[in-house]
Amino acid sequence: MNDRYSRQILFNSIGEEGQRKLLAARVLIVGCGALGTAHAEALCRAGIGRIRIVDRDFVEPSNLQRQTMFTEADAEKRLPKAIAAANHLRELNSAIEIEPHVADVNHSNIEQLLADCDLVLDGTDNFATRYLINDACVKHRTNWIYGAAVGSYGVTMTIRPQHTVCLRCVFEEAPPAASAPTCDTAGVIMPIISIVSAVQVAEAFKLLTGNLDDLHGSLMQFDAWKNEWRKIKLAAPYPDCPTCGLGQFETLSPTSTETAAVLCGRDAIQISPAQPTTINFSSLAERLRPAGDVKFNEYLLRFKTGPFELTVFQDARSIVRGTDQIATARSLYARYIGN
Ligand SMILES: [Zn+2]
Repeated sequence: MNDRYSRQILFNSIGEEGQRKLLAARVLIVGCGALGTAHAEALCRAGIGRIRIVDRDFVEPSNLQRQTMFTEADAEKRLPKAIAAANHLRELNSAIEIEPHVADVNHSNIEQLLADCDLVLDGTDNFATRYLINDACVKHRTNWIYGAAVGSYGVTMTIRPQHTVCLRCVFEEAPPAASAPTCDTAGVIMPIISIVSAVQVAEAFKLLTGNLDDLHGSLMQFDAWKNEWRKIKLAAPYPDCPTCGLGQFETLSPTSTETAAVLCGRDAIQISPAQPTTINFSSLAERLRPAGDVKFNEYLLRFKTGPFELTVFQDARSIVRGTDQIATARSLYARYIGN
């Protein structure tokens, strides 16, 4: 066994057999922001054999305070987060496979993304995506680890479909819009990210090496500023839970999908094309040049016009910045990108 993992192999509960299991595993990380980058770096160093990362966003200067791995150069180039993370991870460990996906996770791709994965780690910032992960994971009996952080507060729970409660058992509905603090209204500090990610990653190691008795089996809550730590013991799965009890996976149905989404923590709207497509950036740039400032690279095109900025990805998904109105964003999309 590679000397690189020697200290981890010496750790009794992992050992050589556990390390072999880690090297043979494939883990999906959904969302590569603060939690996602922390998960990815830890799994990469630990020698998880295949790490699949999916994220729809690009690196910005305001990410650098807490999103480890990203650099000023990544933010200047506005690289997609999945690509920037993969570049750095390959430098940390060249012996494992990193599979970056620049995409919005939705009903059309979630099942394919997790199809051959042993485990899913939550690095998202919104409940809609978490319910989607929960539906797909319960349907396919894939373990997943919920994690969230805002301000100095964080929470995590490990979900093993049919053995534990699922996300829907614990949180039947998402909090209504604007009712809960976000990283935009309350900010977020790095230490709580480290705490939540550390617990998620430790749980991932236990699951992947088969140390199920060592899982914490609770809803764990932390406050890194108030020095509070709470462990709420979980009940058995609820027989009348729509997801894990009744097997209704409503978020996986195509009818549930909205093509526009208000992005958490930003004055921005994401618009997804109704039909899959691939954009030719140079010809789009030519068309847009008379109307404003256009720049593009291999992965995305950025277009500024008046107070608005559109970032267009290859699959025609766009982030419209400068508005929190879906109608305005749709209109700009229709005017400049077309559908
Ligand atoms: Zn449930």
